[in-house]
Amino acid sequence: MTARIIDGKAISAKRREQIAARVAEMVAKGKRPGLVVVIVGEDPASQVYVRNKVKACAETGIYSEKIEMPETTTQEELLAVVHELNGRDDIDGILVQFPLPGHLDEDAVIEAIVPEKDVDGFHPESIGRLVVGKDTFVSCTPAGVMVLLEESGVDLSGKEVCVVGRSNNVGKPAALLCLAQNATVTMCHSRTRDLPGHVGAADVVIAAVGRPEMIKGDWIKEGAVVIDIGINRLDDGRLVGDVEFETAKQRASAITPVPGGVGPMTIAMLLENTVMSAARSAGLE
Ligand code: NDP
Repeated sequence: MTARIIDGKAISAKRREQIAARVAEMVAKGKRPGLVVVIVGEDPASQVYVRNKVKACAETGIYSEKIEMPETTTQEELLAVVHELNGRDDIDGILVQFPLPGHLDEDAVIEAIVPEKDVDGFHPESIGRLVVGKDTFVSCTPAGVMVLLEESGVDLSGKEVCVVGRSNNVGKPAALLCLAQNATVTMCHSRTRDLPGHVGAADVVIAAVGRPEMIKGDWIKEGAVVIDIGINRLDDGRLVGDVEFETAKQRASAITPVPGGVGPMTIAMLLENTVMSAARSAGLE
């Protein structure tokens, strides 16, 4: 079997068109969604992510602002900016780009953002609502994974899903979202004893580890669906996922490539969360 490639670029482009149409409708009713991205310091990867987010806003008609703060910013100064943004009526989403410089407390920053503007879905209240099955902002990358599965016609109900990685922003919400779709979910992590066994039993494998090609293609069950969230840059400059793509492709029924799979979905979901927040605040749901 050779797997169907799940084309994240195409699915994300379609989603962005839908978002642009929705934004145009909202603007016609007098509400333009607004997102602020706050970046502290000069981390080059973060600069690229932020630039892409601002560009994506412009392309879909969402108002955006970038606030750049120096590496030496204090916790108080950063929290003061967040508090000011919390109070602004023209801003529906606040995103503080991580990682922050080491002297700043990321958890305190997440908790300072009002949950109504937590378009990254990182606030404990947002995660708590996800746990209890209430409507909420869902962290953008796992939200994007669910769209890829849906658009690929994968019905999770009753399926065995193996999520590898349990971070608060990626692995855990991915597992909760699959559970909400009635999958039987196994969560694996660095202390898991028999990773090949768990991966090999899964109908759907979701990898969010950050180790190049650590999930071997011959672990994958024949016909399984593979979603690879990992983005790893090798010494020779190539980007690879957490799954050994070429061999996994021979066994899976569908698989996401890296790059071009999950990556493009993340920004689309950020835009979607911002639009959802704006619709709520303007009573346009
Ligand atoms: P974290 O480092 O926060 O979490 C990694 C997880 O992998 C941890 O739960 C860790 O387990 C687990 N892990 C580490 N080693 C092993 C192992 N040998 N076997 C099994 N599990 C292991 O990473 P993130 O969740 O933030 O990101 C994961 C990957 O996804 C990264 O490559 C990142 O670049 C990518 N990513 C991609 C995005 C996109 O837009 N496509 C967005 C966000 C992330 P433990 O908890 O026990 O330490």
